[in-house]
Amino acid sequence: MIRSALALGLLVVLAGDADAYVRTRSSHGTGNPSAWPGTCVFVMPDSAGSPDLPSDQVFSIIQKSMANWNTNGCSYLQLMYDQPTVHDAHYDGTNVIKFRTDKWCHPIDPQNTPEVCYSEQAAAITSVFMINDGEPADGTILDADIEVNNLNFTFVVITPGATPPVPRIGTSIADLENTLTHELGHLQGLSHTCKDAASFPNDVDENGNPPPSCDAIPADEVLKIKEATMYNFASPGETIKRSPTDDDLAGICNAYPVAKNPNMCTHTDLAKLTQRGGCELGAFRDAAPFGVPALLLALAFALRLRRRHRDCT
Ligand SMILES: [Zn+2]
Repeated sequence: MIRSALALGLLVVLAGDADAYVRTRSSHGTGNPSAWPGTCVFVMPDSAGSPDLPSDQVFSIIQKSMANWNTNGCSYLQLMYDQPTVHDAHYDGTNVIKFRTDKWCHPIDPQNTPEVCYSEQAAAITSVFMINDGEPADGTILDADIEVNNLNFTFVVITPGATPPVPRIGTSIADLENTLTHELGHLQGLSHTCKDAASFPNDVDENGNPPPSCDAIPADEVLKIKEATMYNFASPGETIKRSPTDDDLAGICNAYPVAKNPNMCTHTDLAKLTQRGGCELGAFRDAAPFGVPALLLALAFALRLRRRHRDCT
C-alpha cells in the first residue's frame, strides 16, 4: 500500500468537508462503529454469475465496483478480488457476491432458520456479521455477503445518454455497477445516509447525531444525502452510485485511516477472531456476530445474527 503525503492531505480535506456518512454500529450501548480488522477484505463472486450478462462481464463489473472504493486515496482498506468459485452466502468467513435466481430468500443455515425471504423491492441485500460483545473487539466485522435479487430485477450496464436495455418482463432495470458499489459500501461498514423504517437504532452520523429522516431531509443536506452512494434508494437505471462522493469516502477514511493501517492482509480466520482468553468461543456465544434484519424488524430478536440492508428502487 502506497500512501503519499498528498493522500494524507486529501484525508484532512475530506474529513473537514464530511457531512453525510453513517457507519454501521454494534448494538451494545450506543454501539461501536464497525470495521474490518485487517488491511484487506477479500470478495469472491459465486461462479454462477447472473443470467442477465456474460459471466466475464459480471466479474469485470464486480472488480470495477470494488475499484470504485479502492481508489479513494485516503484509507488503507483494500477490497481484494478472489477468483469466482461455486459458493453460497453464509457466515463462514468467505465474503460472497451471490445472484439469487430461484427465489429471493436466504438459504437455511444456522443463522437463518426458518428460511428468511426478502422484500421484492430490494435489489440487493448485504449481510454484515460483527462481534457484538461490548469488549474491545466489539464491532469487528467477521463476514459480509452480498445477495443480489435477480428475480425482480434485470441487471444491465447503463450507458448514460443511451437508450437503456429492456428489462425482462415483470422486472425492474438496475445498473449492476451502481448496485454493487452501494452494497460494497455496506460490506465495508457504512450504513445509509438517512433514516428510514429499516435503519438501525444506533445509526448516527459523523457528528454523533441520528441521521435525518429520509422523508424530512433538511434542504441544505438534500444533495449530499441523496447523491451519496450510500443513499437508501435508487431509481431504475440510475448510475450515480457508481462514484462514491467525498462524504462516502470520508466514512471509509474515518473507519480505516492510513495512520492506523494494521498492515495485515489475509483471508478471514474466524476461529482466531472469535477467540477469547485462549479459549475459542462458539460462533454463537458472546463473541458471536450479530445483526438485525433490516427488512423484518419483527424478527429481530429471533434472528440476532444478521444485519441487512435493503436497497429499493
Ligand atoms: Zn443499502
